[in-house]
Amino acid sequence: MKQRPSEPELGLIIPCHNEEDVVPELLHALEDLDLGIPVSVLFVDDGSTDGTLEAFKEACLHNKRLACLSFSRNFGHQSAVSAGLRHVRGDIVAVLDADLQDPPEVLHEFVKAWRNGADVVYGIRTNRKESLFLRLAYRMFYRLLQRIANIHIPLDAGDFALMDRKVVSVINAMPEHNRFIRGLRGWAGFKQTGIPYERQARRAGRPSYTLKRLMRLAFDGLMSFSAVPLRVSSWMGAASALLGFGYLAYALTCWLRGIQLPPGWTSTIVVVLFLGGIQLMVLGILGEYIGRIFDEVKNRPHYVPSAAYGWLKGEDEAA
Ligand code: UDP
Ligand code: MG
Repeated sequence: MKQRPSEPELGLIIPCHNEEDVVPELLHALEDLDLGIPVSVLFVDDGSTDGTLEAFKEACLHNKRLACLSFSRNFGHQSAVSAGLRHVRGDIVAVLDADLQDPPEVLHEFVKAWRNGADVVYGIRTNRKESLFLRLAYRMFYRLLQRIANIHIPLDAGDFALMDRKVVSVINAMPEHNRFIRGLRGWAGFKQTGIPYERQARRAGRPSYTLKRLMRLAFDGLMSFSAVPLRVSSWMGAASALLGFGYLAYALTCWLRGIQLPPGWTSTIVVVLFLGGIQLMVLGILGEYIGRIFDEVKNRPHYVPSAAYGWLKGEDEAA
């Protein structure tokens, strides 16, 4: 195994989508960040339609530690992080949100933990500044995921993390398209530690993650790391069979006691609705998996780069 460098270079990946309001503050925060080791930054502009890319282009001209990769359109946060992981340089790599919800100062502790032997250091969100509904939804999702996933995915850990280069290589080697980075990171193994931090409120701008996109991400996480939803169908089948038996027993008892049951219209409807509902639900679950298989077999690229700026430019041309 390769020895760890004592003077590592840190590569920082920052995925951005329509973040022009927060870019000035972000650039300031990065300037103020002094980790005692060289840091290079890779912004991944995920098809922004505002002035985000222009601002990054400008910043890359003045600071040779900065680079930006832009996409041909919006491919989504997880694709942006994947692209960043592929192109970032450095012996250790960290992923940070552009809106400064993950405070860059926490990176001090991340680097310290890496020096103490950890290969993956992820942030655990101790509190959230989102609405009560979203907080509850997050809580439930992470607990459900931990219960049914076939690998250990830490509770309340997002993409804010620092990874050793070897972990980045493992993630880059994974071909799958429905990328749930925090799951892939857990799957990679090695020595993983969590560091609690307070997740801040967004500094400026608006979140691009709508409830619908959050749900999609949640489904990707559940379906890529668990086959339990598939099994739910057999449980439901068993449950409905049991209910059927129960009803049969009840009808038999009534018959033996000579109680006249009303003609069976109600019970028929109940059974039909019940079974119909279960069948539709199971079909839906199957559909979710098949849709994902469809995505995988199409094997389209995870993103389409459109341009590179800053230090990435030269490397891109050399490649
Ligand atoms: N983001 C992205 N592509 C998208 C949506 C979001 O690159 O399609 C970036 C966004 O700029 C931010 C990070 O992903 O840096 C997290 O997004 P957001 O703040 O909207 O999500 P939340 O913090 O609410 O989870
Ligand atoms: Mg955010």
